[in-house]
Amino acid sequence: MLRIALPNKGRLADDARELFTDAGLDIRARGERALTASLGDLFEAIFVRAQDIPEFVADGAADAGITGADLVAESNRDLETLADLGFGRCRLAVAATDESGIEAIGHVPQGARVATSFPRLTQAYFAAAGRTVELVPVSGAAEIAPHLGIADVIVDLVSTGSTLRVNGLHEVATILESSARMVVAGNRRRTEAMQPLDDLVAALQSVLRARCQRYLMANVPRSRLADVRRVLPGLNGPTVVDIMNSGEHVAVHAVVPASDVYRIVAQLKSLEAEGILVTRIERLMP
Ligand code: AMP
Repeated sequence: MLRIALPNKGRLADDARELFTDAGLDIRARGERALTASLGDLFEAIFVRAQDIPEFVADGAADAGITGADLVAESNRDLETLADLGFGRCRLAVAATDESGIEAIGHVPQGARVATSFPRLTQAYFAAAGRTVELVPVSGAAEIAPHLGIADVIVDLVSTGSTLRVNGLHEVATILESSARMVVAGNRRRTEAMQPLDDLVAALQSVLRARCQRYLMANVPRSRLADVRRVLPGLNGPTVVDIMNSGEHVAVHAVVPASDVYRIVAQLKSLEAEGILVTRIERLMP
């Protein structure tokens, strides 16, 4: 069985579980607080801290792992990213207090104290920007550090930005854009035993692709087909199907972006479409 390290809690944990479930891989834990679970028939999940996953994968304790790109970069371990899973989107940003007057990285004074739980990335970023800073390592809640007088600026993850705002901080620069990634050891041997991992990545990606698409069906007058084609591009153009007992109407089927459904339905109605049906897609393999 191939072992996959998954975050045991935090922002990525629920989304990772949901993705496996949607891909048809049941997570069967051996109890409420079990640290391992079977994942379909071919994989075993181990639930560990997201921070530890780069280490476990690089060391071979797990064959693959799902964790944030921020943690992968901070670990500096030799890892290969197999897929960007899209969830857990955030950015690692430099932030300063609103009254500091710091609006750009060039305003950060030499010798400034920087509170962060990302010391490696922070050090490298400021060094590249020609700034000498003093790191104040924290394991979380860096936002409080400037108010306690132990740091001048912080480097922390930002998603909506509301945590910064309520703490009287603003973003000064982005160090890294992050989201959940599926990673394997950079030096892994490409044996046949690893093939299920590639199949797994393909399955997960097909689920992710499907989430932002919808399958749309409608009956339209044959005479309006040319207009309907313009409204419904689909993956390879719409599928057009004859309807039994009707020469006048045809059924059109197409895959469309979920965000366009509202507009497309309105346009189809104006082309006298009937029986419009929109459904979710479980998987999409173009
Ligand atoms: P927000 O207020 O939405 O900007 O979120 C900021 C807070 O959530 C900070 O404490 C971050 O450390 C944490 N955070 C935001 N996004 C993530 C993420 N993708 N992974 C882990 N922590 C995050």
